[in-house]
Amino acid sequence: MSQVLDGKRVRDEILEELKPRIARLARKPGLAVVLVGNNPASEVYVASKVKTCRELGMVSEKFTPPNTITTDELLQIVADLNARPEIDGILVQMPLPKQVDTQRVLDAVAPEKDVDGFHPTNVGNLSIGRPGPRPCTPSGVMELLKRYKIPVTGKHAVIVGRSDIVGKPMAMLLLHAHATVTICHSRTADLAGECRRADILVGAIGKPAMLTREHMKPGAVMIDVGINRLDKREDVVRIFGEKTEKAAAFDKRGSVLVGDMQPYDAAEISSAWTPVPGGVGPLTIAMLMVNTVESAERRQP
Ligand code: NDP
Repeated sequence: MSQVLDGKRVRDEILEELKPRIARLARKPGLAVVLVGNNPASEVYVASKVKTCRELGMVSEKFTPPNTITTDELLQIVADLNARPEIDGILVQMPLPKQVDTQRVLDAVAPEKDVDGFHPTNVGNLSIGRPGPRPCTPSGVMELLKRYKIPVTGKHAVIVGRSDIVGKPMAMLLLHAHATVTICHSRTADLAGECRRADILVGAIGKPAMLTREHMKPGAVMIDVGINRLDKREDVVRIFGEKTEKAAAFDKRGSVLVGDMQPYDAAEISSAWTPVPGGVGPLTIAMLMVNTVESAERRQP
């Protein structure tokens, strides 16, 4: 029987472990979240980040400049936050509007307050194995593997996706953990063949249920990072079947979330797998909290 890797359970454990660390600090950790405009998905993410901060007794401040903001105006907000000693972490929620130079804004966040781990200094720190904040989603995957005691050393990890926020840092973290790593992307010649060599397969693509049994080696571990919303019933039925919980959930809500892997294939073929939702997703915010607490610990005497 394949084991379900329960991200909510691991998230709760991680958050619980943070509580005594927060209590020991003279000043509560402070996270500033900048949410530009009103992208509904971003609003949901930010609301849950702010809520988790509150539950942990951390201080969060939310800034909501309008969609028409210029790069210079946003740079000024970041500069003000960099200068405030009680702010330990700065998160600029992506995506930013078209007129804003995203890279300049990310580069402007002080590296020691960069709780997303996206600043080039921290990308470099990760690459050469120096301490520093790590991108939250891939470091959440590493926590999941660690806490479920899934061996990584000497295993072949295949990551599908090479983005700066998931695929590449995931590869680097697995490499530091002594996996042999292959990174696949949209130009990979034989994707299914590469994936079938994986002891640990990570899907970070953004294509609903794209990885199916033909990509899966029996007994491998399947980590599904993808979060895709389906709002057409025929797509839900194609992936999950007619008389399934997902189809019923769709009929109730008008949409469902699905990862990058075909979950029934993963459940049947793998030794362990992450469901969507409830697998990798909950860990991202937990690791953001870890990064913020670590920043506060470093920045306070
Ligand atoms: P990006 O769109 O930035 O990257 C997608 C990657 O997938 C690219 O490297 C792309 O290749 C590759 N790809 C696309 N199509 C194919 C294909 N047909 N075959 C092989 N590779 C392909 O996405 P992100 O990395 O930002 O996110 C990936 C997924 O993870 C999304 O579903 C996103 O919603 C989810 N996500 C989940 C998070 C969580 O908290 N669980 C956090 C962040 C993201 P190429 O480079 O060649 O274009």
